[in-house]
Amino acid sequence: MSCIRKPGEPGRYQPIMQHLCGFDGGDNGNPICGKPAEHHHYAGSPETGPSDYTMFSCAEHFTQCRTHSWDYHDIAAVCDVPGTTWISARVQGEGFCVWPEAEAVMSEQTSMNLVSQ
Ligand SMILES: [Zn+2]
Ligand SMILES: [Zn+2]
Repeated sequence: MSCIRKPGEPGRYQPIMQHLCGFDGGDNGNPICGKPAEHHHYAGSPETGPSDYTMFSCAEHFTQCRTHSWDYHDIAAVCDVPGTTWISARVQGEGFCVWPEAEAVMSEQTSMNLVSQ
């Protein structure tokens, strides 16, 4: 995480656990969208299988991101938290992220802000 790309700056997209739309029009030289994300995508396609990274999209860019997705779901607090596992359903769009430690942490600290950790 040495090179964090902020919204509005060009460069390779870096997942930064801020749940911001990473859409850049398909060109790494463009600035990313940076709006609050509503969907979490696993890159790839149903035909070729999952790629090796996930991405976030806002409502406006959901359709474009979906065409490059193996799977996707509505965003949740645990999305992109290190240690999270992506669980895919049989149907594309019905998977979800699971953070095995979440329940233990939540019970100790119910007001924890997952995004800022
Ligand atoms: Zn967007
Ligand atoms: Zn997720």
